Amino acid sequence: MTTTFASTVTERINVDRPFFAVEFFPPKDDRGEAELWRAIRRLEVLDPAYVSVTYGAGGSSRDRTVRTVERIATDTTLCSMAHLTAVSHSTDELRHVIGSLAAAGVRNIMALRGDPPGDPLGEWVAHPDGLEYADQLVALIKRSGPFCVGVAAFPYGHPRSAELETDTERLVGKFRAGAEFAVTQLFLEPDGFLRLRDRVAAAGFDQPIIPGIMPLTSEKTFHKGPELSGSPLPAALVERLAPYSGDTAAFRAAGMEVTGELCERLLAEGVPGIHFYCLNRSTATTELVERLGLAPRHEGTRLSTPA
Ligand SMILES: Cc1cc2nc3c(=O)[nH]c(=O)nc-3n(C[C@H](O)[C@H](O)[C@H](O)COP(=O)(O)OP(=O)(O)OC[C@H]3O[C@@H](n4cnc5c(N)ncnc54)[C@H](O)[C@@H]3O)c2cc1C
Repeated sequence: MTTTFASTVTERINVDRPFFAVEFFPPKDDRGEAELWRAIRRLEVLDPAYVSVTYGAGGSSRDRTVRTVERIATDTTLCSMAHLTAVSHSTDELRHVIGSLAAAGVRNIMALRGDPPGDPLGEWVAHPDGLEYADQLVALIKRSGPFCVGVAAFPYGHPRSAELETDTERLVGKFRAGAEFAVTQLFLEPDGFLRLRDRVAAAGFDQPIIPGIMPLTSEKTFHKGPELSGSPLPAALVERLAPYSGDTAAFRAAGMEVTGELCERLLAEGVPGIHFYCLNRSTATTELVERLGLAPRHEGTRLSTPA
């Protein structure tokens, strides 16, 4: 794959071998900035299909997201994607952010509704001059320019959705509005993802659905991830990892084995690639990319990075 900063995610993921992609969050301070850029530089040599940068809850990181994506677009060879959430913004403000992204050379946007600031499960109140659902943001972005748009998907249903069938219809509605691919909420066992993919295919849609995977490097990630995402914590995994509780290194080794097996199963099931929630670190993602053979091997490319 050759990269130019103007590539679209669709161009980059529509290839004949599985890819990997990485999600970052915008740093809050200089230390975070240095950590992020260390990770970006280490992952850049592995040629991820794209890297994305989240948009802070309630629109809190608007400037930092735009700045980070702009720097990735101008200072690296990477294909970048900015997340954008509708919450707390008027439609005019959203148009302004979309314009800033276009001016920064960003062609890919992940369109999200976002959660209410403070309590993600609190009452959703739309901005009086804003949007209600992500499908409207997809349509707004598509009307604003030649953007490639991705959306969120939920293997176990969005926490606000009463049932999976309705939730799948909402995802399909985002594809109908112009989204070209979806990335899922993190999950720990493959069945929910595979069933979601079947439901979307049965509805007649073939947009790629990319599994979002968080490397299980610590007990905290193991317990916090599902808590924040609404995905179940499988009992079999709790039992498998219980013997390593309290032993940081042993838990990491076992957790990474679990993550590797999950990715292997997904790839065997024909997923186009894996989107890693890397928490602005490069080591665990690099280990998984190496295990799964997801990086093209160039002479002189050293895959393993120092811890
Ligand atoms: C890959 C990924 C990346 C994310 N990145 C960020 C980020 O950068 N910043 C951030 O703040 N949050 C982020 N989130 C979290 C996301 O904003 C929340 O999960 C939010 O609650 C849902 O966003 P959505 O875009 O899926 O909303 P929607 O698709 O609008 O869905 C929200 C709820 O409304 C329902 N619904 C959707 N459309 C309709 C409709 N037309 N009529 C009636 N009901 C409808 C859905 O079924 C669902 O229950 C991310 C999530 C994922 C999976």
